[in-house]
Amino acid sequence: MINPKTASVDVLIVGGGMAGCALAHVLAQKYRVLVLEKQPETSQQDRVGESLPAAALRSLKILGLSDAINQSANSDYHGVVSIWGQSTPIRKDFFDTLDGSGLHVDRGSLNRAIKKAAIDAGAGFLHDAQLKSLSSRNGHWAIEVNRLDEGCQIEARMVVDASGRASVVTRKLGLKRVNADRAVAIHAQ
Ligand SMILES: Cc1cc2nc3c(=O)[nH]c(=O)nc-3n(C[C@H](O)[C@H](O)[C@H](O)COP(=O)(O)OP(=O)(O)OC[C@H]3O[C@@H](n4cnc5c(N)ncnc54)[C@H](O)[C@@H]3O)c2cc1C
Repeated sequence: MINPKTASVDVLIVGGGMAGCALAHVLAQKYRVLVLEKQPETSQQDRVGESLPAAALRSLKILGLSDAINQSANSDYHGVVSIWGQSTPIRKDFFDTLDGSGLHVDRGSLNRAIKKAAIDAGAGFLHDAQLKSLSSRNGHWAIEVNRLDEGCQIEARMVVDASGRASVVTRKLGLKRVNADRAVAIHAQ
């Protein structure tokens, strides 16, 4: 059991979204893994986007997450129409792809199922927690975390930035984001 306040772990993953939880599920089978997540444990703030293309399904199955897919599956879908970089809609039919159809999922259920798989594999989660600073010392990362009103010190052999577009680890290390283009997303439920 990892004590999150004074943890010394093999891998610290910053961000408990889909990527962070899937990675934690895989790594926790061999290593001591702690996931840092800024949202509270009870947060029901689900990400938008609930269409999983077949290639993503293949990846999740390879990672041993078939149960998570099954628990959140709604219905198959067989293609997409997108308007991307030009005004003419592009239609992509999955009929001619090797992986076949995609799946509409309940995004919240999928996120929670992948997180549960990570916890079952032994990963620890530190919620309400934000990365304050990190520095490299003698082959280890020394990490300071703000959690509610408390500070925590964590030592890790490796740090993974899974904070999505926030890119908090890379920003703390002074790396700049290079924007290739602008993007606008509109979604409806
Ligand atoms: C409008 C829209 C529609 C989409 N539709 C689809 C779709 O249909 N199908 C599909 O496959 N993909 C879709 N996507 C893309 C998909 O949502 C993302 O690729 C996916 O969420 C990325 O997962 P992630 O784990 O990398 O990042 P995120 O889901 O962004 O997770 C990052 C996590 O890091 C945490 N975090 C951030 N900052 C900190 C910090 N300082 N300290 C600690 N934790 C932090 C966040 O709280 C979050 O939990 C869509 C995206 C958008 C915007």
